[in-house]
Amino acid sequence: MENKKELRTWLDDLALNHPLVIAGPCSAETEEQVLKIAHELKDTDVSYFRAGIWKPRTRPGMFEGVGALGLKWLQRVKAETGMKTATEVANAAHVKLALEHDVDLLWIGARSTVSPFIVQEIADALEGTDKIVLVKNPVNPDLALWLGAIERLATANIKNLGVIHRGFSTYEKTKYRNTPEWQLAIELQSKFPDLPIINDPSHITGKRDMIFDVSQTALDLNFDGLMIETHYDPENAWSDAAQQVTPSTLVQIMKDLKIRKETDPEADYNDALNNLRAKIDVIDNQIIELLGKRMVVADGIGTLKRQKNVSVLQSKRWNEILGKMVLEGQEHGLSEEFILKMFKAIHQESINHQEKIIKK
Ligand code: PEP
Ligand code: MN
Repeated sequence: MENKKELRTWLDDLALNHPLVIAGPCSAETEEQVLKIAHELKDTDVSYFRAGIWKPRTRPGMFEGVGALGLKWLQRVKAETGMKTATEVANAAHVKLALEHDVDLLWIGARSTVSPFIVQEIADALEGTDKIVLVKNPVNPDLALWLGAIERLATANIKNLGVIHRGFSTYEKTKYRNTPEWQLAIELQSKFPDLPIINDPSHITGKRDMIFDVSQTALDLNFDGLMIETHYDPENAWSDAAQQVTPSTLVQIMKDLKIRKETDPEADYNDALNNLRAKIDVIDNQIIELLGKRMVVADGIGTLKRQKNVSVLQSKRWNEILGKMVLEGQEHGLSEEFILKMFKAIHQESINHQEKIIKK
């Protein structure tokens, strides 16, 4: 049994275990803590045991990880439970030590992905490895940085690649610790359709009671797996105490999640789906046509304002439109957040059109 697990490749793991589960504590704290959690996870759906050995902390003076010593504990986890092991690496020295201790999966943390220098250093240290390397999204919502990190690793001939979506930091306070910005993960998936993508609901939510909900959304969006921070005594964890769950809660979450198939071969289903998709395509074309018409009208307004030398931005009128549209949207089941985002984008395009005319 343990041998079989040893022989499986990253892609086999993803095919055999859907969703792939990576679980374990935010930080390795003591040898006892690591082994106790690992043994509680041993006979569950967890394939990879995670534990942070080197911890990137926002402020100095907080627990910064046990360091290389913890790698020996991960070796014991693998020997005693058969689970593969995973940890974060943030420089070439970490990579060297993790490889020496045969860690199976290495991830690049969100604070490292923002730095092309660090990513390049890690890529060089990993050159040609057949270990699994996952790239967390950068802290800020910048898709290019995320893509750049993947490209640097691919160029270093690292074959078993993947990404982890852990949400993005925002200045505004939201209900999340890091807002998911699902559209960025979806955009990444469409650029690299074969690149496995794991969701990290722990760092997205920052709160254990929101983990189920975010995990379900990830599975509904065809994510390949989940990374969930797990501790036998979450409240007293040395880092990220509010977001860790116990092994038994993790098992319950996995039981309750609805695992959806990517598709279904049944003909009736496909006919019905194609029919609805054709309708959506027609409506999308109508939306584009209408937006084009709206811009022609905006150009007309621009010409008038130019003749009278009136400024493009009319804040009062704009606020009235927004208020009305939010109410209108509600009647059609559209959220305020969506209406505001959409109309801000439309308004910006109108302003750009009018600016062109006024500057003529
Ligand atoms: C972690 O996984 O414990 C971690 C530090 O994550 P992130 O890089 O997403 O903040
Ligand atoms: Mn953490």
